[in-house]
Amino acid sequence: MALDALPRLIPTGTCWCGCGRQVGLGSFFAQGHDKVAEGALLAARYGGSVAQLLHAHGYGAGHSVTAAAVSEGAWDECSHSGCDYVGTPTSVRTHQKRAGH
Ligand SMILES: [Zn+2]
Ligand SMILES: [Zn+2]
Repeated sequence: MALDALPRLIPTGTCWCGCGRQVGLGSFFAQGHDKVAEGALLAARYGGSVAQLLHAHGYGAGHSVTAAAVSEGAWDECSHSGCDYVGTPTSVRTHQKRAGH
């Protein structure tokens, strides 16, 4: 699915993890609760298994989810020849500084 097909979401003033806490304007989550929600979804739908999550979305050893992140334009590849690092644009820049290339 193309990322531009994702619906536009609007924060509601209450944390989306379901804890009921009020959050600031423009936020979906109380601090750290995005990770709580992510873990809870993984537990509730995939038994806490990232392998199950990947399989359910058609990814795995033979169909790279990291390549999909790059081809959707959400992640970048390190441009250094012979380096296979991929990640968010910010993490690629951090990687390149640390790796010295
Ligand atoms: Zn919450
Ligand atoms: Zn690199």
